[in-house]
Amino acid sequence: MSTTTTPEAPAAKPVFQRETTAGNYFVANYPPFAFWKKEAVPDFLDALERGPRPGVPLGLYTHIPFCRKRCHFCYFRVYTDKDAKAIRSYLDAVLKEFTVYAGKPFVGGRKPKFVYFGGGTPSYLSPDQLKYLTDGMKSLLTWDEVEEVTFEAEPGTLTDHKLQAIRDLGVTRLSLGIEHFDDHILEINGRAHRSKEIARAYEFAREIGFPQINIDLIAGMVEETEDKWKEAVAKAVALKPDSVTIYQMEVPYNTGIFKQMKAEGKLVAPVADWETKRRWVDYAYGEFEKVGYTVTSATTVVKDPAKVKFLYREGLFNGADILSVGVASFGHLNGYHYQNHHDFDPYVEAVNAGKLPVYRALEPAPDEHYIREFILQLKLGSVNAGDFTKKFGTDPRQQFAKPLQRLQDWGFLTNGGDRIGVTREGLLQIDRLLHEFFKPEHETGRYA
Ligand code: SF4
Repeated sequence: MSTTTTPEAPAAKPVFQRETTAGNYFVANYPPFAFWKKEAVPDFLDALERGPRPGVPLGLYTHIPFCRKRCHFCYFRVYTDKDAKAIRSYLDAVLKEFTVYAGKPFVGGRKPKFVYFGGGTPSYLSPDQLKYLTDGMKSLLTWDEVEEVTFEAEPGTLTDHKLQAIRDLGVTRLSLGIEHFDDHILEINGRAHRSKEIARAYEFAREIGFPQINIDLIAGMVEETEDKWKEAVAKAVALKPDSVTIYQMEVPYNTGIFKQMKAEGKLVAPVADWETKRRWVDYAYGEFEKVGYTVTSATTVVKDPAKVKFLYREGLFNGADILSVGVASFGHLNGYHYQNHHDFDPYVEAVNAGKLPVYRALEPAPDEHYIREFILQLKLGSVNAGDFTKKFGTDPRQQFAKPLQRLQDWGFLTNGGDRIGVTREGLLQIDRLLHEFFKPEHETGRYA
């Protein structure tokens, strides 16, 4: 009797859907948000009463949910109608929330290492409102060990005076939501700013010496064309930003674009298909590489990787504690994921009633923490198996032997000793591939 076993035939490479249909593709966290539950909130609150896990850094995230107008592709909870009084009540709520957290044992004497202002549009706030907010934050959790302060800004909200005020607050990393340089494309996609405002804001931001300027672009907006994309990339290259983040347009269900699709009975979104978007991002990477930039993740090119860091993302991808405040914000503390109320009034009311406004939470199991960090780090283009084994005690090459082999057979991964690398083709569609590592019960929308 023969003892030889026939090796398993490689699984056929999947055929990914070409058209852009409605839904979220971007993987931002794990386990997926649908598994975070209200019932886990008491356990999350208990976890705050314990000291921190040794060696885990602390970062802060503050969510500013205001915008001048709602972009047609926006899926965030944003408000375009709040007056100065409502904004002040929101900032007070945020500071009250920070006050409660700052007194909890999980802080354990730690000082934050990085701070992130996201939204919405943080630059919608006036210099006085920003100073009020950040002075309050600094008095509760001092910034004297903070190495990076990121601030998202919409170019049309930035006067020279406001940019100077943002710099004076201690912002080190200004992230400009440019998205495109073509006025028609900006307009048809519902953006509030225009190209003139981009040029003026960028120039002054450079002049006053922000240590790092990132610009965001989106490949495949409504009415994008090959020529317009190439022009946008050329303009982005000419600005010489420290880093560029390029997203591929997706059309989640709560966007204006989806509502219009529904009204017209359309299943396919009026934006470029996935293959075209990947090609456009690849083109942009190539143009930046020609002038010396390095691709450092599925969405980022960086001018000088030795100098340009992104500590917030590093913390997020490596299991740091992220104390996140504000309406609908997501955080991770003492081993728990949590999310705040996603409506303005319940959020403000909960905080004013002296409660933490947490709406749902989840304590990932140890293997889920493992999966989370592995998949998030794969988005950076490679994972060092040795480092991972040292941290978790299990080698991902054994833990994930089958999916890694599958992705390698399909041409999306390379395997060179300790380095599990993602090929360019893999990186351009990494969010679809990450599902290969999900636990079966977390499978949602696979290859949809
Ligand atoms: S600026 Fe950003 S957060 Fe505000 S509506 Fe547009 S996409 Fe949404």
